Amino acid sequence: MSPQILFFIIIGILLLDFIIDKVIDHLNAQHFDDPIPEELADVYNKEEYYKSQAYKKENYRFSLVTSGFTIVLTLAFFIFKGFAWVDQFARGFSDHEITIALIFFGVIVIGSNVLNTPFSYYHTFVIEEKYGFNRSSKRLFFVDKIKGWLLSAIIGGVVLAIIIWFYQKTGNLFWIYTWLFIGAFTIFMTVFYSSLIVPIFNKQTPLEDGELKDSIYAFSKKAGFKLRNIFVIDGSKRSTKANAYFSGLGPKKRIVLYDTLINDLETNEIVAVLAHEIGHYKKKHVVINMIISLLVTGITLYIFSLFVNNKLLSQALSVEIPSFHIGLITFGILYSPISEVTGLLMNYISRMFEYQADDFAKMHYSGQPLISSLKKLSRNSLSNLTPHKANVFVHYSHPTLLQRVRNLNLDASLNNKMTSRVI
Ligand SMILES: [Zn+2]
Repeated sequence: MSPQILFFIIIGILLLDFIIDKVIDHLNAQHFDDPIPEELADVYNKEEYYKSQAYKKENYRFSLVTSGFTIVLTLAFFIFKGFAWVDQFARGFSDHEITIALIFFGVIVIGSNVLNTPFSYYHTFVIEEKYGFNRSSKRLFFVDKIKGWLLSAIIGGVVLAIIIWFYQKTGNLFWIYTWLFIGAFTIFMTVFYSSLIVPIFNKQTPLEDGELKDSIYAFSKKAGFKLRNIFVIDGSKRSTKANAYFSGLGPKKRIVLYDTLINDLETNEIVAVLAHEIGHYKKKHVVINMIISLLVTGITLYIFSLFVNNKLLSQALSVEIPSFHIGLITFGILYSPISEVTGLLMNYISRMFEYQADDFAKMHYSGQPLISSLKKLSRNSLSNLTPHKANVFVHYSHPTLLQRVRNLNLDASLNNKMTSRVI
């Protein structure tokens, strides 16, 4: 194959990916004004409903502009040999492959971040602000950005340097060492994420004594879940949107509730959300997800190792000296259709897990408070109640609100039937 053909394949993949994405967004937007399903009629009142319509449409237009800008810039970068230029620029500073790769990715990541910042600024301070979601100050916004950049420079830089070092020392076998390293790193991050990374951005405080804590402990005891750490995170300093999540493994496991969640929901609704999170843990979703993603990483690294020495990968981007970092870029794009498919599969599994966690909450606690909490969370984030099937299939890691409410109601009515038969 000639480098030119490979180059056109790359451009084709980038374009196709963009077009598919836009078609899905368009289909989704066609259903913005669909009638709200009966089960969800109580989510919005009229005024909130109109607000949610406007919010969806504004976000849609915004994403058209940002993605349009990104694809034009990306294509231009490829067509005008941007990678060759950055590669040469990096080689001006050093002869050392690891240093060159660090400068190379540094320039690309910083460049794309800087270009992206006006868009995220607009999203936070114009769109989110207009709909009353934003709580972040401009100072906090930029401090967050800088912290994020530093953090990814340190972590990304170290990880990249180690991988290239493996490649230099072991050649094509680098994939095995990299795989082991990424495996160990992933487990480390899963365990220590809440105690190492989260404090850089947020304050976490143990949930204070009171009715909520008692109810949570009473439930987790009943469900046979050893819960030692419940933390409240100050999500309200950035946004009014609420959330809860589970993190860590073994003794480090903890449940984190956003302060906004505690404000918005009643005690039994919070316990229901928690029951859902405990369901994820009890059904071993955290571990299964980790194993799947490690398998995917291993396979991807192995396939990459088959191509990494191929000069075509560099030539396709008009780079004269073949290198690991250029190979990584070209391979990343050539491989993206496959990773899209794995992504679809992972989302499918994730949606299945969400149903299982909902079922757990329903069985061990109750479905109704979970329904009302999900509805409240949807109302408070003005979410789209009528997404298009294609959009759900491709992008949703959770089933839609309607699907979850139906699932939660479904078994409840089955249970009722069963009890009535018993009675
Ligand atoms: Zn969940």
